[in-house]
Amino acid sequence: MAYGKYAPADMITPVLLTLILVAALGLFGFTLYRRFLLLKAAGADARFDRPGERIRGVLLYAFGQKKFLTGEQPAGLMHFLIFWGFMVISARTLTLFAQGYDPHFYLAGLHPAGLGGPYLLLKDLVEVGVILAVLIALYRWLLSRPARLFGFKPAENRLAGQSHWEALVILLFILGLMVTDFLYDGGRFVLESDPLTLLEKRWSIVSSGVGLLLSGMGPAAVGVVRDAAWWIHILIILTFLNLLPRSKHFHIITAIPNVFFRKLEPAGALSFMDLEKTETYGTSRMSQFTWKQILDMYSCTECGRCASVCPATASGKPLAPRQLLLDLRDHLYSRERELLQKPDSQGGEGNDAVIVGDNLIHDDVLWSCTTCRACEEACPVLIEYVDKIVDMRRHLVQEEARFPSALNRAFKGMETQSNPWAIGQENRDSWAEGLEVPRLSDHPDAEYLYYVGCAGSFDDRSKKTTLAMVKILKKAGINFAVLGKEELCNGETARRIGNEYLFQTMAQALIEVLNNYRFKKILTNCPHCFNTLKNEYPQFGGNYEVIHAAEFVHGLIRQGKIALPGELPGKVTYHDSCYYGRYNQIYDAPREVIREIRGAQLQEMKHCRHDAMCCGAGGGWMWMEEPKDKRVNYIRVEQALETGPDVVAVSCPYCMIMMEDGLKAKGMDEQVKTLDVIELVERAMK
Ligand code: SF4
Ligand code: SF4
Repeated sequence: MAYGKYAPADMITPVLLTLILVAALGLFGFTLYRRFLLLKAAGADARFDRPGERIRGVLLYAFGQKKFLTGEQPAGLMHFLIFWGFMVISARTLTLFAQGYDPHFYLAGLHPAGLGGPYLLLKDLVEVGVILAVLIALYRWLLSRPARLFGFKPAENRLAGQSHWEALVILLFILGLMVTDFLYDGGRFVLESDPLTLLEKRWSIVSSGVGLLLSGMGPAAVGVVRDAAWWIHILIILTFLNLLPRSKHFHIITAIPNVFFRKLEPAGALSFMDLEKTETYGTSRMSQFTWKQILDMYSCTECGRCASVCPATASGKPLAPRQLLLDLRDHLYSRERELLQKPDSQGGEGNDAVIVGDNLIHDDVLWSCTTCRACEEACPVLIEYVDKIVDMRRHLVQEEARFPSALNRAFKGMETQSNPWAIGQENRDSWAEGLEVPRLSDHPDAEYLYYVGCAGSFDDRSKKTTLAMVKILKKAGINFAVLGKEELCNGETARRIGNEYLFQTMAQALIEVLNNYRFKKILTNCPHCFNTLKNEYPQFGGNYEVIHAAEFVHGLIRQGKIALPGELPGKVTYHDSCYYGRYNQIYDAPREVIREIRGAQLQEMKHCRHDAMCCGAGGGWMWMEEPKDKRVNYIRVEQALETGPDVVAVSCPYCMIMMEDGLKAKGMDEQVKTLDVIELVERAMK
C-alpha cells in the first residue's frame, strides 16, 4: 500500500479489492440464491395485484417508517435515524469501493464542485447521528436490557437466555463503519492537497476536525491510519453483507419486499381454503407455508414489538409471537438443505417433518392466540401472524381432531343448533317475545336487516343490548326487520378456531337465507358478525353492505332522528373491540356517540384505539376456560380502572361479558357498570 497522494488506489489495491469483492459477493449471492429457492419451494400466494397501492405502502411504511414513528419512543426515532442515515451513507459506501480503483471517483451528481459538497456535509452530520444512535442502542443491549429485546418470560425463555452477540457485533460494525469513514477522510485531508480534496475538506466539517487531530502525527503514520481505515471499512461492509442473510439483519434486504407484498385484502378476511381441491387441511409442514409466510420469517427484525403487545404473552401463556416466528425461521434455516432436496415433500421422510405439535410449535402455543391482531398492528415490517396461526389450527382441528376439550360444546352447538351457546335454535328469537319486532318474512321490503347474532339472541346480558337497539330503531322510524327463527350463526367462531369445513357449511347456509331477501343493508351490533359478514362472506359470493350499530346510531343522532335529552353524568372509558377497531379501523364512531351524551366524560385508557388490549374472548377463547391467574380480561379491566370510570363502555357482546366478569372478579361491579354504547344511547333517549 502506498502512502502517497493516490492511496489506496495503488497497484496492489485494485487487484486485492477485486479478489475480495468476487469472493464476498459470490458467497453472498450463493446464500441469497438458497434463500430464494426456499421461497420458490413454498406454497403459492397471489401478491402481485394492485402495484400502485403496494408502492404507496412501501413509501409509507418502509421509507416513511410510519410504524416506527408512531410506536414506542425513543426506539422508533432511533430506527428512523439509522434507516435514513444508512440511505444517505449508502452513496458514500459505493464511492469508497470505487475509490479503490479511482481515488477521485464521484457518483453522478455528487461531484464536490456541485451537489457533492452539501452531500458531504450532510453525510458527516448523519454519521455523528448514527454514532449517537448506536451508543444508545449499546446502552439498551448492555445495561438497561428491556424485556422487549431480551424476551418475555416464560414464553420467550430461549430469547432471554441468548447472549445476543449478534446484535452487539452488528452495532460494533456500524460504529466501526462510521469511525473508519471519519479516519479515512481525516487522513486524506492531512496528506492530500489537490483542489478536489480541498473542496471536499471544506464541506466535511467533522472529518476535517478528525484531520486536525491526526495532523499531529507524522505523514507515514497518518498514511497508515488512512489506508487501514479504508480497508477496515471495506472489510466490515463485506462481512456485514455476508452476515445479513444469516441473521435478523436479513430484514435490511427483505423488509421492503415484505411491505410491498403485504396483505391488501381486508385484514379481517382469513385465507380462503378450497375444500374441494385441497388434499391437506391447514399447515403442519414447512413446505405448506406460502412464499409470503416464508418471507415474513426472513423479515423479522426481532424487535419484540409484537410480543410486547400480545395479550397471551402478557397473561403468561406459552405464546409470544416473535418466538413463534423465530422458532419457525430457525427450523427453516437448520433444515434448508433437506427442504431443498425435497421441496414438495408430503411423505414425512424426515425432509419436511411435521412442525406442529411436540416437535416444534406446541398445540398450547397455537391455542393461546385470541386473534386480536395487536402483533400485526405493532410490527414495523408488517409481518402477518393470525393467518399463520389459524392455518396451523386448521391442521390440528381438521386433520388431527386435536383441540381443547372445552371447544366440543361450541362445535356441537354450531353443528346442531347453529350457535356456539348450544341453545336450541327454536329459542333464537325468544328475546323478542311480546314485542312487535318485524320479521323479514313478513316485511320483505324492509331496507335494513338487523342481524342480531348468537350473543344478542341467546346470551341474557347481550339480549338487553338487542332490546335497546330495537327501541332506537323504532324511535328513529327505521324500516327494519329481523330474520327471527330463520337467522343462523355466521360461523365466525368456527373459522377462528380452525374448523374451516364447519365455517364454510354455516356460511353457505346463511348466505342462502340472506339471498332470499332484498334488504339493502345489514345492521349488526357484534364486531365479529360485522367482520365476517362484511369481509369474509364475499369469498363465498355473499356481498352485503354491513354497518355496525354504533356507527349507524351515530348517524341517527347526527341526522336528528333520535334526541338524547337524558343526562348520564360520570366518567366513561371506552374499550375498543379488536374486530371493530384494529380489524376494521372503526375507532371514532363509538366515541362520538359517547360524546353526544350529556354529562358523560370520555376518559381514554393508556392503551386505546389501535393500541387497545384485547378483552381475551376472541379466537375461540369465549368458549375456553382461562386459568384464573392468566386471564386477559383481568389485565384489561385493571387498565380500565386506572381511568377511575363510572362506566366501561363497549360495543361488542364478547367484550361486554369479559369486562363485566373482570369487574366482578375485582369486586368493582357495583361501582363500575359495563354498558354497550347502544345501551347508553337508549338510556339517554329517556
Ligand atoms: S393475534 Fe393477538 S393473541 Fe395472537 S399472537 Fe397476535 S397479539 Fe398475540
Ligand atoms: S414480528 Fe415484527 S414486531 Fe415482532 S419481533 Fe419481528 S419485526 Fe418485531
